[in-house]
Amino acid sequence: MILPGATLGLLGGGQLGRMFTQAAQRMGYEVVVLDPDPASPAGRIGSRHLRAAYTDEPALRELGTIARAVTTEFENVPAGSLTFLRQFCPVRPGPEAVTLTQDRLVEKRFARAQGLATADFRPITAVGDCARAFAEIGAPALIKTAQLGYDGKGQAAVESAADAVEAFRRFGDRPSILEARVPLDLEISVVLARGADGTIVTFPVAENRHVQGILDTSVVPARIPDTLAARAGEAAATLAEAMDYVGTMAVEFFVVDGGRLLVNEMAPRPHNSGHYTLDACATDQFEQQVRALAGLPLGDTTLLQPVAMVNLLGDLWAAGEPRWDRALMDPRAQLHLYGKTEPRPGRKMGHINVLAPTADAALAAALAARERLTTP
Ligand code: AMP
Repeated sequence: MILPGATLGLLGGGQLGRMFTQAAQRMGYEVVVLDPDPASPAGRIGSRHLRAAYTDEPALRELGTIARAVTTEFENVPAGSLTFLRQFCPVRPGPEAVTLTQDRLVEKRFARAQGLATADFRPITAVGDCARAFAEIGAPALIKTAQLGYDGKGQAAVESAADAVEAFRRFGDRPSILEARVPLDLEISVVLARGADGTIVTFPVAENRHVQGILDTSVVPARIPDTLAARAGEAAATLAEAMDYVGTMAVEFFVVDGGRLLVNEMAPRPHNSGHYTLDACATDQFEQQVRALAGLPLGDTTLLQPVAMVNLLGDLWAAGEPRWDRALMDPRAQLHLYGKTEPRPGRKMGHINVLAPTADAALAAALAARERLTTP
């Protein structure tokens, strides 16, 4: 057990790392952050910021020596760096879990091996695989690069074998999958924490809406039958267990055919669709990450009230600084900004949570608060 007062290490310093750092500091830990970016949202608030590449061995050695345990916060963290850090201290999640979720093909096969369904897919390793993959999957389909895709990047719609070839080439002949595009009833996600002793606690299921591949809103509780929510929670727990995962993680699902669950992807870290927990749950997803990392008992995930989360992307800055005062005219609106200085289109700058008596009311109020940000 690593008790408050000790130093925790963080590989990666984006907004997820910043919120982890805030949770750790609240509990009395020090946090040392390794991130090459001098403006790193977590690096700026940690007690130390090691500005070095994620593969820089001297910096990793320093991180592993200063910290009693290390966690990470971004999907494409080099697994080799986690393996290297393990010589010095516990690393949670470990390189195995991170590697598994870094490759869509490996990840989907893993989900299927646990008896869970995914959308139908075929691997494409060379351009010559495109025609057969398309013949087997049919239209409509999506081609997705197996690695280094997030927020809809490295994806293209495919209506013909020729489309598949064109997209495969455009992405640089990288290993990919061709996936059936399924008619979605809904997208949902489960965030859970698994402690060092194997205890699992799941947060309430979030109902998610994406715009251009990027999460736009989450509503909790998801407006789905309790039995479906329970099945999603169990499926996510099955995956965490099978990975021997320690920490906070998320599983995204598609709901199809009026109640069938398809695993879309897993994230070996806290997740954007779990940001609602910051204001709406007894314990939030970042505190769970701290507790799991430190080997402490996990906290209560009870939902205090229905909630909606709306993301704030850099696009909102197009006509100048958003009107924060206007968003906060609704006293229930909780503003979270990540301390990023450059508001680029599509960049996640912050989010707003609103708690209300019903999920519908929370969503309406959160959308209205965001709308007011840019109303002249
Ligand atoms: P992903 O990066 O795989 O999570 O995809 C980003 C978003 O694209 C998802 O959240 C869905 O909204 C959509 N999407 C991805 N794959 C599929 C699919 N097989 N069928 C329908 N929609 C999809």
